[in-house]
Order: sequence, then structure tokens, then C-alpha cells
Amino acid sequence: MNVLLLNPPASRPYLRDYFCCSESKSGYLWHPIDLLIQSGILSKSYRIFFIDGIAEKLSDKDVLNIMEEIKPDVIFSLVGSLSYEEDTKFLRACKNRWNSLIVCSGDILLEDEPPEWVDAVLTNFLSDELLLFIEGKREGFNFLKVKNDKERGNKRTFKEKFRYPVPLHKIFMKNGYRLPFIPYPFASILTSFGCPFRCSYCNSGNIGFSLRDIENIKEEVEAILSIGIRHIFIKDMTFLSDTEHSLKVMELMKKYGITYNCYTRAELVNENLLYELKRSGCIMLQIGVESTNEDALRKLGRNADIKWTKEVFKMAKKLGIRTGAHFIFGLPYHSQEDVDKTISFACELKPDYASFNVFIPRPASNLWRENFETLQDEKRKWLKKAYLSFLFRGWRIEKVPKNFRLMGEFLREGFKLYKNLLRRENG
Ligand code: SF4
Repeated sequence: MNVLLLNPPASRPYLRDYFCCSESKSGYLWHPIDLLIQSGILSKSYRIFFIDGIAEKLSDKDVLNIMEEIKPDVIFSLVGSLSYEEDTKFLRACKNRWNSLIVCSGDILLEDEPPEWVDAVLTNFLSDELLLFIEGKREGFNFLKVKNDKERGNKRTFKEKFRYPVPLHKIFMKNGYRLPFIPYPFASILTSFGCPFRCSYCNSGNIGFSLRDIENIKEEVEAILSIGIRHIFIKDMTFLSDTEHSLKVMELMKKYGITYNCYTRAELVNENLLYELKRSGCIMLQIGVESTNEDALRKLGRNADIKWTKEVFKMAKKLGIRTGAHFIFGLPYHSQEDVDKTISFACELKPDYASFNVFIPRPASNLWRENFETLQDEKRKWLKKAYLSFLFRGWRIEKVPKNFRLMGEFLREGFKLYKNLLRRENG
């Protein structure tokens, strides 16, 4: 039986994995983690194929031609809230052509009923229930929503530490996967699932939180090294959420001489932890700053300390860890003045990389459940101002000629941003 893991082609460079859909503005893409993890689980019993229509820059026609060769019996596909219309059209066409079993994963389907063209929806991609479904089981699932099964897919996460079989990393080494200032090729792993925090603009807290068994991480790290890859993207929503567990992961990275990058929150970091991160091979730390309005963030369930955030960026820089800062404009309780202050703060922080985003209620987040509206009209203006202010500040231009690799990244990022965001009339 042929199983196809599919990131469908689309008109824009969408990122749709891990129940979050966004558009890549600078051309950076990573491995779709849902598909990657299922590759290990499903390859025990089935022949696995993988197509990433976005990373491989394939058209609908290209993907359908490749699929004609594969003739998939099962398609496990990503879908996303931003691309849902085109995803539906494409997957419907696949259903009509091959009558494959179609199972999806994506933010938009996390809480809704499975649409008519889908056979099931996987609500936790660490689970082996997709395998059981392919084998013929049709009810009694914890993490799989199947039509007409009343008990279906209501659980969110595991109580115990989770494990997953080593994924087929080799077939995920596509050229399109790039991250800012990260060596290529790299591999993606999870050391935890979900997030213990409850920011109301994010759905990660609502999918629960669990930690991965350390021995199981070790097994995967060894497999990654055996195929010659020496850099790992720890794709946890919030690394350092459980300090003790993260320290064990860091020990492992240090033992194997691996470099890595991860996402965290400034409030979870202290000077000692930063030192441990550096010592264990962390070369890039990406931090969700969101905005400078602490009161507004508190109302959204997020405790932020802007003074401390600035200190963390300073210390990381001193230790030689590159930094990425993530910001959101247009969150509830924020004003135009907050946008301006946040842009100035981003420039003051001097991270190596900044990602500016406009708030869109994320499916399965608390604000989405409350039907919160956002000011999309301002979107293009805010992003344009933020990127122009950030990218063309004197300090950033000054450091370019000193480092050729950085110059390459800088030019590439500027070009992609211009193409994808600044030049587009209706961005
Ligand atoms: S925004 Fe970050 S810290 Fe807050 S719930 Fe989401 S992943 Fe967790």
C-alpha cells in the first residue's frame, strides 16, 4: 500500500504544520513536523512517499503528475486556515482521481467537524491512530476525528512522556528548507509537544503540554548524526518550559557535538541558562516578544517583562548566540502607538533576525473561539514600516560587509521581503 505525505501546492508560500498557518515572508521554510513524525510511524507498515508542493515550488499540475506515478492509497495531508479554499479544491480533485483515503492535519480542522471530502482528521500527529485507521479500525479513537464516531478525537495530549519512532529524515532533506542563519541541511525534532502557557491569541496552550522521553530523543539524535547532519532545529513551541528536562536535552546535544536552534520566551531564561545554551551548542535563539505593552499582554494571558527581554537579547549577543525576535501587531488592547513603540523596540534590541506579523485569530485559540476581529486594512502599512525600519537601520547595514555569509542572508532576506510583501499591492 502506498502512503503519500503531502504538503499541497499553493499560490503563496504557506507554512501549515503544527496547527498553525502563516505565510513565509522572507522565504524561510521548515520541515512540516506533522508529516515528518508520521513518516516514522507509518513506514513500519507501508511504503512512504513525500511531496512538499511549497518547498519544491511545484504547481498543482506538477504534483498531480507525480501522484499519477505513485497512485496513493492513502494521503496524509496538511491543510491551513489561510489556504483552506485551495487545499479543499486540490484534495477534492485527488479524491475524485484516485479515491484515496484522505486524512488531514491542520489548525482549521482542529475543532471543526471533518468536511465531506476528508475521511478523518488527526488532532495529535504524535499518535499512531492514523496507522490503526489505515489498518481498518473505524471507532474509539482519542486523537482521530472520524465521521459518525461519537467518541472521536476528543483528547488533546498524552499524560505520560511521549515517544515516536525515528522519522524518515532522509526523504525530508529538500532544498527548500531554510532558516535564518542556520546551517543547511538541518533536521527537525520535538523534545516537547504543545505549550504549558495560555496566551489567548495562540492555540498551542489549548493542545496541552507533554514532554518527550529522553532516551527516545537520544535515539533520534544518533540516527540524525548517522546520516551526516549536525544541526538540529528543536521545533518545540517553547523550549525551556520545563528547565530540568531541557537541561537533559542540552546535555545530549553537547555530548554529540550538535548545534541547534530553538524558540523560547525571555521570561524563562536566566544568565546561567543562557550560558548552558551556549555551552551545549545553541547557535540561534528565537524569542516571542510580541509587543512592548506589558499591560495589554497581561490581559491576553502573557506575562512579559520588556526590560528583562532587552537584557536577555544583550546577554545572548555577548555570549555569541544569534537571536531572532518575533512581534505581533494589532493584538487586542493595543493601539497604533503600540505598533510604533514595538518597531522602535525591535530596532533597539538589534536581533540578527526579526519577524513582524499581524494578528489573525488562530483557530482553536481563545480569541478565535470568541470571534475576535482584527484590523486587516492596516496590515500592509504596519509590516512595510516595520521591515523598512528594521532592515535598513545603520547598525544592520554596517555589519554586512564584515561577514560574507551574513551578507548573503541579508540580501536574500531583503529581496524575498521586497518580492513577497513590499511590492505586493494587496499583501
Ligand atoms: S504564544 Fe508562545 S508561550 Fe504563549 S501559548 Fe503560544 S507557544 Fe505558548
